[in-house]
Amino acid sequence: AREWQLAARPHGEPTPEDFRLVEVERPDPADGEVVVRMLVMSVDPYMRGRMRAAKSYAAPWEVGETMQGGAVGRVVASRSADVPEGALVLTDAGWRNVAVLDAQHVRVLPELPGIPPSYHLGVLGMPGLTAWAGLFQVAAFRAGEDVFVSGAAGAVGSLVGQFARLRGAASVVGSAGSPEKVTWLTDELGFTAAFDYHAGPVAQQLAAAAPDGIDVYFDNVGGEHLEAAIGALRVHGRAAICGSISAYNAVSPPPGPRNMSLLVASRLTLRGFLVGDHTDLRPEFLETVSAWLASGELVVRETVREGLDNAVPAFLDLLRGGNTGKMIVTLSDD
Ligand code: NDP
Repeated sequence: AREWQLAARPHGEPTPEDFRLVEVERPDPADGEVVVRMLVMSVDPYMRGRMRAAKSYAAPWEVGETMQGGAVGRVVASRSADVPEGALVLTDAGWRNVAVLDAQHVRVLPELPGIPPSYHLGVLGMPGLTAWAGLFQVAAFRAGEDVFVSGAAGAVGSLVGQFARLRGAASVVGSAGSPEKVTWLTDELGFTAAFDYHAGPVAQQLAAAAPDGIDVYFDNVGGEHLEAAIGALRVHGRAAICGSISAYNAVSPPPGPRNMSLLVASRLTLRGFLVGDHTDLRPEFLETVSAWLASGELVVRETVREGLDNAVPAFLDLLRGGNTGKMIVTLSDD
């Protein structure tokens, strides 16, 4: 079996030298275990956090340890009555081509026509539930409201904008890192307006796109975006604080928003959340989003890299904006 291990803790932006691909002996499955051959694995921004020694919501990876993450695979041998050979399963054993796992730690997935396995790592998986929980529960979005989402062309952001549109937003504004992404948001995903945050100050571009302000901000980015959104939120506005990727490679704490006094003046709510606290929403999320997929109302795009060798380049590229929609790595030939 082949597995990626953390070779060193990065200082600032990670480099290929921080990772090591190793060959390991695959043990035979014990009672209650399954052998899973991975079909597709996820690379996600939170993995940058796991490369740090500092305690966060996900435990740090140790140097020399095999990394982990979401992956979908096929059971090729089973010593469990619950998970038969041939089953499609969701695991947390990404970053490797094959794994021997406790059957209780895998989730058997339905095999539905038109639903590729990778969707369980994106639109129907963790990023999808993040978008759902953040928009509808944390930010308490209601029909008729005006929404702004940063990181709008990414896995979570592209769904936030579309969920808001499909549930009757008055307007949806998105920001992203290139003119191509901006065009995709307005022309394919139905965003009301979008802008490239490299093209000028975020506050100015947001004011131009949403001159009357916003009710809800979904924050994937932090930093300048968060300050601009605080400035644009109307009285009783709400922000779901999902991530702050603009600071994930920072070597010292970045400055905070300079306009926090607006929280009082505008009676704002800024609320951080973790998707793992909202798994109770999964049934309603899956039901509604599956229906939107079936009807073609929801546009899903993936950026696909092939092969375990390309998992690290895919991850490094994700942090630099090399993806549109969900970044995934297919492992079928490994
Ligand atoms: P994305 O698919 O959005 O990929 C990351 C994107 O971040 C890149 O494509 C890039 O797009 C953008 N980016 C990189 N650097 C910067 C920067 N300096 N400023 C602005 N944008 C930048 O990833 P996900 O959808 O998986 O995750 C989005 C956010 O949600 C992340 O912050 C992540 O940590 C968070 N998250 C939080 C969860 C929770 O439970 N709270 C669960 C899942 C995700 P661009 O070209 O636009 O710059």
